[in-house]
Amino acid sequence: MTSLGTVMGDRSAHSTAERECYRCDRDVATDELFRVVVQPPASSERFAAATRFCCADCVAGMGMLEFADRVVDSNG
Ligand SMILES: [Zn+2]
Repeated sequence: MTSLGTVMGDRSAHSTAERECYRCDRDVATDELFRVVVQPPASSERFAAATRFCCADCVAGMGMLEFADRVVDSNG
């Protein structure tokens, strides 16, 4: 009846926190995660700046996926 402690030990939240997408919880390599930074307006005292790590699919789903200039500019 006291085996709750072993359930938490399997997967360390600290080591995987920056390796998974915060929206879909998919395990994504760190160098493939997008960093989404939310900076509230200066007039807001209610919210703090936040940083989330997100996979490309979810970034696209938010409408925030932009292609680099060299990728778009291919018809010249
Ligand atoms: Zn995702």
